[in-house]
Amino acid sequence: MIRCDQVSKRYAESGEVLNHLNLEIAAGEMVFLTGPSGAGKSTLLKLIACLERPSRGQLLVDGRNVGRLTLRQIPYHRRQVGMIFQDHRLLMDRSVFDNVALPLVVAGLGAQEVARRVRAALNQVGLLNKDKAHPQALSGGEQQRVGIARAIVGRPPLLVADEPTGNLDPRLAREVMGLFARFNQVGVTLLIASHDLALISTLPYRTLTLDRGRLVADTHATQITSPETPLNA
Ligand code: ADP
Repeated sequence: MIRCDQVSKRYAESGEVLNHLNLEIAAGEMVFLTGPSGAGKSTLLKLIACLERPSRGQLLVDGRNVGRLTLRQIPYHRRQVGMIFQDHRLLMDRSVFDNVALPLVVAGLGAQEVARRVRAALNQVGLLNKDKAHPQALSGGEQQRVGIARAIVGRPPLLVADEPTGNLDPRLAREVMGLFARFNQVGVTLLIASHDLALISTLPYRTLTLDRGRLVADTHATQITSPETPLNA
């Protein structure tokens, strides 16, 4: 699903922030991306979503060479990659329904289909009864779940999340990881940037570690012998 061959990213101001990265994530995997602040985690996610382009090397996402996408191909690519952010980036003056509907409206879907899919997405994150609320009226955990519903509403095969639990307490953070695990069980590929090692070390998923733009560890899914509580408990 994701393949990096010698991918580098250089910014004029910061120099090389990703350095000859080689990695492969298969369809259907759920993978954590960790490493210290400034390691390049967000930059890698932005390259995958084609919000930035690699400076060198080849990045393939679902077979598409994202460094070579034309301007006309980018909207389709972005619809295939659901993005979730730490600060969720919701429109505060719009209802939950409108926030989740936005990608579908932009894609030109009809009103009935939009309503059907928005309800399905809100149902998956447990917020069906909050569709008319405005985000300010929701808790931080609920706001994050609206952001997740917006990312899955177009049913992308790949989700990338940038510190999705950074603003959440440990219980809500586990809940969000539980949602991701459920999406993964139905075949969605996930790449989740997180520096919450206390949480991810308790979960049985592959973990990639970046440090100063280089891949320094790739720990494959291990069997956790004594998880505190299973994610979907
Ligand atoms: P992480 O997500 O691991 O904290 P980032 O990918 O956000 O790391 O940042 C990696 C490095 O790239 C940092 O030094 C950061 O300052 C730099 N950087 C990120 N985005 C830009 C940008 N748009 N322009 C210049 N430098 C950037």
